[in-house]
Amino acid sequence: MDVKGLKFGIVDFHCDALSKLHQDPSIHFSDDQKLDVSAFKLKQGGIKLQCFAIFVSERLGQGRIGHILEQIRLFRTEVEACGLPLVTSRQQLAALVASGGSGGLLSLEGADALEGNLSYLRCCYDLGVRFLGITWNHANWAADGIMESRGGGFTQKGKELVQACHELGIILDVSHLSPKGFWELTELAETAGKPFIASHSNSFSVCNHPRNLSDEQIRAIVRLGGRIGITFVPYFVKSEGPVKMTDLLPHLEYMCSLGAENHLVFGSDFDGIDHHIAGLENAAKYSDLREMLLKYYSGALADKWLYQNALKFLQTQIPATKKTL
Ligand SMILES: [Zn+2]
Repeated sequence: MDVKGLKFGIVDFHCDALSKLHQDPSIHFSDDQKLDVSAFKLKQGGIKLQCFAIFVSERLGQGRIGHILEQIRLFRTEVEACGLPLVTSRQQLAALVASGGSGGLLSLEGADALEGNLSYLRCCYDLGVRFLGITWNHANWAADGIMESRGGGFTQKGKELVQACHELGIILDVSHLSPKGFWELTELAETAGKPFIASHSNSFSVCNHPRNLSDEQIRAIVRLGGRIGITFVPYFVKSEGPVKMTDLLPHLEYMCSLGAENHLVFGSDFDGIDHHIAGLENAAKYSDLREMLLKYYSGALADKWLYQNALKFLQTQIPATKKTL
């Protein structure tokens, strides 16, 4: 698949719709008003490939692998049932692009619910999970999250997790990871030749929230050939005042000044946020974002950020063919 000049719809690297479906069984994916990302809104917004995060809140208690399985089941019964097949291989991705259809990717946000068991990780891989966010905001058995005050990095077991992901072909995601963890992963990733992503993080220099990436972190992701998902969490975009869609531009501009033009994608964090950028309240509004980008940039550049950078990355980083169980 030659990505350059290719026409496809938008690719988004992070949303939490599965979590909402999991917590409230009365919600349906087809067109529920409570969802920022529904099948209907994805269609309206022109999104062709959406990554769905599996998030297991600490509040859910014991038996946590079950909550992962339940969210994968919800992907099957809710998302796939709406005509968005799970994409797990390059072959499936190429077929999706060729057919002009829509699809979904699965990511696990936080290794917490794997409970240190790497067989569970392999099961998740077999079931189609292709991204793993190592932590959420707090510490878990693998590493410290960004809000953990002691600021630790990886545990020994966490480093084994990284190695297992590199071997399996699971792409690691550093959004929410502590800075120490970030730099430890950079070293491991450099040795393994495995780029990683920050699926939903902006620039710290533009908006100084701890969830955003420092210049050095952005440069490291670029150097390794990873991807950064510009996110729509209002307080990661601008520290104060009402946030508009054009407030995303300084993040794009600044990251490009650090060499990230070919490494930027979008990772909305829709359904993971209570507040929204004005005019960018749900997935349907992605078409307005596209129009806004086209006021400032060429179509070729906007297409890179909207899908080409994402496709190019997935094409080399997910497995070539589907492994059947
Ligand atoms: Zn998140």
